Amino acid sequence: MQETDSSFFPFVPSLSDGGKGDRYGNGGKTNMYPFVSALSMTGGDGENSYACNSHLQRKVIEKTRPVRVKNTKEMLIKLDFPPCIKVADLGCSSGQNTFLVMSEIVNTINALCQERGRDPPETDCCLNDLPDNDFNTTFKFACFFNKTSKGSSFISGVPGSFYSRLFPGKSLHFVHSSYSLHWLSELPRGLEDNKGSVFITGSSPRTVYEAYLNQFRKDFSSFLRLRSEEMICDGRMVLTLIGRNVRDPLYRDCCHFWTLLSKSLLDLVHEGIVRDEDLDSFNLPFYDPDEGEVKEIIRNEGSFEIGELETHEFDLGQSLDERDYMLGRDKSGEREANCIRAVSEPMLVAHFGQDIIDALFEKYARHVSRHSDCRHKSTVTLVVSLVKK
Ligand code: SAH
Repeated sequence: MQETDSSFFPFVPSLSDGGKGDRYGNGGKTNMYPFVSALSMTGGDGENSYACNSHLQRKVIEKTRPVRVKNTKEMLIKLDFPPCIKVADLGCSSGQNTFLVMSEIVNTINALCQERGRDPPETDCCLNDLPDNDFNTTFKFACFFNKTSKGSSFISGVPGSFYSRLFPGKSLHFVHSSYSLHWLSELPRGLEDNKGSVFITGSSPRTVYEAYLNQFRKDFSSFLRLRSEEMICDGRMVLTLIGRNVRDPLYRDCCHFWTLLSKSLLDLVHEGIVRDEDLDSFNLPFYDPDEGEVKEIIRNEGSFEIGELETHEFDLGQSLDERDYMLGRDKSGEREANCIRAVSEPMLVAHFGQDIIDALFEKYARHVSRHSDCRHKSTVTLVVSLVKK
């Protein structure tokens, strides 16, 4: 038997460097904040998983449907009904949300073809996320999708950072991304003075906001440049991300979900469970731009024409499913805490350790329940559609 050439496998990332590799597309730079490499949603289908705690994200997908349908149809007509259409969902995560989007795109394409007497194309549906994403849980839902798409659609997984090249040049017709682009490729320098808080707050120095904004500018521009290489002319992109609608960059709602996370961590600092300096050195690789910031970056990058740019407000209470409303406030606090836990647990564990997590989200749930007004705080979502020039 021939021996395997070991030079072919220079290293196994999960064994030699904790799986970090260069999946963020930041040129192999060592990240000052190692927990950023743990960014991914909680996998599996257990009670704390993303798959079971992403009702809010699903509502957002439903609400942004008209923009996707309109752009899918316009793309198809403009490109004169190509025989094969390649669609990508960037930041698909684990669970079934991505299939809601893919089914809707495929159904829209098929309905328009039928209306115009054209043969429906084959669709190549590419689901992307970071390599640590639980793709297995996602693929378990593929059977439902295959049933609705009548055998003319094909699913594949594309592990990698969307801040790096993912697809061959000029191959994509339609790109979608929901609730992913507010995650940055790395944390900027200059957050040392952001004490006692995991994100920008009203008391953060202005330099903290500027550092975050610059990182978002850098990341979002490179995202656009990379996609412009991968997309064909007149291809479409629909991007949905968390944003803000207040001019003052330091104004942060007192009950904003990250503020509640900071408060809960501070509780644990006061109880001596978390060290001050550990909280001070933890910041989220996250940024919520306003419409003006998004527009400016798209215009400066120059590869795309802006179609729609909409701002939606979502009631945080929508992260709960309908039956939660029947359960009273305390249970609702728990559900909301689970929703935030599902998106932040891997990073929190990487920095603070597993032991604090249950206590932390018990505090979080209590904060939600204590502030009755929290239940109806709005989360701002930006939706932008782009046409590749
Ligand atoms: N689109 C899904 C998931 C949103 S959760 C939904 O609407 O339900 C955000 C996802 O973005 C996570 O799974 C996270 O791993 C992924 N993500 C964050 N940064 C990424 C990057 N640089 N490249 C690829 N995926 C990324």
